[in-house]
Amino acid sequence: MESTVYFATARAIRWDYQYSQVAGLERILEKLDLGGRIEKDEYVAIKTHFGSRGAHRIVRPIFLRKVADAVKAAGGKPFVCDTVRINGWEYLEVANQNGINPLSVGCPVLLADGLFGCDSVEVKSGPVLGSVQVASAIHDAPAMVVVSHCKGHIGAGYGGAIKNLAMGGVAGRHRSGDWRRARGHLHAASGESSLVRDPERCTLCLQCLHVCPTEAISQEGGGLVVEDERCWRCGRCERVCPEGAIRLQKRGEDEFQAALAEAAQAVLSTFEPGRVVYLNFALEVQPECDCMPMADTPLVQDQGIFGGDDVVAVEQATLDRINGAVPLPDSAATDRGVRHGQRILPETLGVDGQPHVDAAAALGLGSQRYRLVEV
Ligand code: SF4
Ligand code: SF4
Repeated sequence: MESTVYFATARAIRWDYQYSQVAGLERILEKLDLGGRIEKDEYVAIKTHFGSRGAHRIVRPIFLRKVADAVKAAGGKPFVCDTVRINGWEYLEVANQNGINPLSVGCPVLLADGLFGCDSVEVKSGPVLGSVQVASAIHDAPAMVVVSHCKGHIGAGYGGAIKNLAMGGVAGRHRSGDWRRARGHLHAASGESSLVRDPERCTLCLQCLHVCPTEAISQEGGGLVVEDERCWRCGRCERVCPEGAIRLQKRGEDEFQAALAEAAQAVLSTFEPGRVVYLNFALEVQPECDCMPMADTPLVQDQGIFGGDDVVAVEQATLDRINGAVPLPDSAATDRGVRHGQRILPETLGVDGQPHVDAAAALGLGSQRYRLVEV
């Protein structure tokens, strides 16, 4: 069955508010009929990514404000949320520095898994993960608007709504301290991969140490030490190492992609049908995830905003559009010689995001056939 995906282009060809991207978002929100999905005074999660200290290319606060306004107009009580990646207090400060706070977005800004990242509820998932720890505020919310900045991703190849639900809907930590029982569980879906290091090649540039989200890497006695028990197998250190001196062994990308779809399904299982809608922002499509300590220049020109209530259709439409766009000069895409007509994200990153969208479709989360309606 074909699902409808609404699209508002990023092009603004007249000096008129109606041609702005903000007005385009408002038109999509009208089409999504929030009033028919939200009961009066219900809490509504607006799940986004707060970015990081150096990753400023997130969904801008003006758009979050418009979503919050639309939820209020529909009778709901919105809250903007994300789950912890660094310590909670510091992550709220990151949100603030990136412009996301109650004054800018017009509603509370929360950590869905609490200040310490371990407020969660265990939810059954599929054969790859078994179960996941869904962040409490997302688990308990009766409705949700998933607001995703679409870009590349180190392991997933593409980060949009499914990754936002999966990695972002799961608690950052577990009360027991066992990373395998929180978000790290997804990273390690391929099994007990381990880090292999080649100290001979290491120049001690310390980039790996700075990007490690778990502080598993430290400098000791003129070399590096990696605490295996702290390592989430996220692969960031491998990604940034210019010398190939650190890498993850036996890491199966397919299992990780299947795990993303499974986790997204588990998060969605906590909502009644029709109570979650998706807004994909194909703006500032940079090659890295928003949790990296920087944001590279965009790979393609701003495309626009996609919206709908079928996560697979919205993701497929976004991915098709990005992968078919013209690569921008002075970007990682042109650094790698990617030409128009080649699929931009997999050609640039060496990892294809399509398998996790396929896996989500196979789990029955939606349809890969879509009808794009420009608003
Ligand atoms: S894979 Fe590397 S960056 Fe990721 S947690 Fe382990 S040591 Fe840190
Ligand atoms: S990024 Fe690579 S070269 Fe730099 S300190 Fe880490 S292992 Fe060594």
